[in-house]
Amino acid sequence: MSHALERQAAERTADDPAWSPGVRAAVERGRARAGAATAARARVRRLRFDTIAIHGLWTAEAALAADGSISEPLVPSTAQHFESADEMEAALAYLVPSWTYSRMANPTLAALEGTLALLEGYGTDLDVSCCVTGSGMAAIAMATQAFLVPAAAGTPTRRARPSIVASAKCYGGTFMLFAERFAAERGVAVRWVADPLDLDAWQAAIDDGTRFVYGELPSNPGLAVFDVAAVARIAHAHGLPLIVDSTIATPALLRPLALGADVVVHSLSKAIGGSGLAIGGAILSRPAIATRVGPPEMAADFATWVKLHPFRDHGPALAPQAAHAFLVDVRTLRGRVDRWSTSALTVATWLSRHPQVAAVRYPGLPFDRGHELAARQMQLVDGDEGAGDAHRYGHLLGFEVAGGREAARRVFDGLELIRRATDLGRIRSVATIPAISTHQQQGEAGRSLAAIPDSLISLSIGGEHPADVIADLDAALSRD
Ligand SMILES: *Cc1c(COP(=O)(O)O)cnc(C)c1O
Repeated sequence: MSHALERQAAERTADDPAWSPGVRAAVERGRARAGAATAARARVRRLRFDTIAIHGLWTAEAALAADGSISEPLVPSTAQHFESADEMEAALAYLVPSWTYSRMANPTLAALEGTLALLEGYGTDLDVSCCVTGSGMAAIAMATQAFLVPAAAGTPTRRARPSIVASAKCYGGTFMLFAERFAAERGVAVRWVADPLDLDAWQAAIDDGTRFVYGELPSNPGLAVFDVAAVARIAHAHGLPLIVDSTIATPALLRPLALGADVVVHSLSKAIGGSGLAIGGAILSRPAIATRVGPPEMAADFATWVKLHPFRDHGPALAPQAAHAFLVDVRTLRGRVDRWSTSALTVATWLSRHPQVAAVRYPGLPFDRGHELAARQMQLVDGDEGAGDAHRYGHLLGFEVAGGREAARRVFDGLELIRRATDLGRIRSVATIPAISTHQQQGEAGRSLAAIPDSLISLSIGGEHPADVIADLDAALSRD
């Protein structure tokens, strides 16, 4: 059962005279189920991060009700069978917890949504909502498009040209969505913030037509950071939501909702789904987001509203098989992020001392421009200063090869253990050259705005022993 539908069902009363007695009885039964699920969630959210990631909402009661399966069942079925016309009518009116049809909702997706919502809201008392999507880009498109609707008549936003404010240090797909789909095709003004550390630049980019403020932390592949709390304050002062892509950090290192962000988007295809077996995404939101547009229900519970309305109509649903793969991977998220981050710092430190390396970007390096801010915002969840595992900076780093474009390609081609792929967040270390892969389409000017030189190699560190990764890099860097 979807958290969204469960919550809606819990709020409904069965005595609405508009419904027939049969539908009202179905709603009453639905309320009891919704109440039990809400109570189970309240118990689970008191547990620690690892425990929530491992068990999710799959309680002992849930297991016994599903023939004792100790794992959340994979339900690949397209649709749900209903007991009666009354049950079906109540379900299709979103009056009872149900899933109906797998484009709209599905039990395996609901298990993933419930787990991700608890992890993203961990350490807060926010009741976080989640809508999982068929890819990270689908999550970003759904989360941002929802704000590109006409504002209420008579408001300054209605009269102004729609605009968005976004960090230029963002994923190539996001850059293209904003620059091509929104700006070129729909006439939305995209006001890029070239340096996300510059708070005045965020402030100056906002105008009457602005619909949302968008940032990525840390950014792929530039590893740029920004002050989430400060940018959220700027956005909120203008009645705007802050949307944060924290794919690279994952909730094991960063939970932007706790810092004041309104909406978080993830590509589940990366570190959350570290085995690399599926593509997926997620939209997560805090209750009562800031927004200048949209109906009151959209502001009240954004991810649920997206799921029930635009997501249902656009249809970028996640396959249940993919959701199941993510549920399996998310159980080990914290441990993987801890280990990969430790190795990434070792590799970044080694690279920073190599004569063939012109520059290293990694927020964990003390001389990195974003280090202080990263240290303040990114911490290993439930880490411990005394045990020495409090500070972690993620698996992604970037390095520029001395000698420019051709030298970078030679080093890249010399890698043997590290995979050459447009990919990251894997159990196996992966390298890419962003200028010819993820950020090829945005062109020379777009890359220069995003500070992505041709000599940059993006490196995602996995679970191998770091000495083997370093040996591979050493061999590649010493080739001529
Ligand atoms: C990969 C990625 C995306 C897009 O996700 P897909 O699942 O590939 O659609 C978005 N943001 C960041 C930071 C990414 O690395």
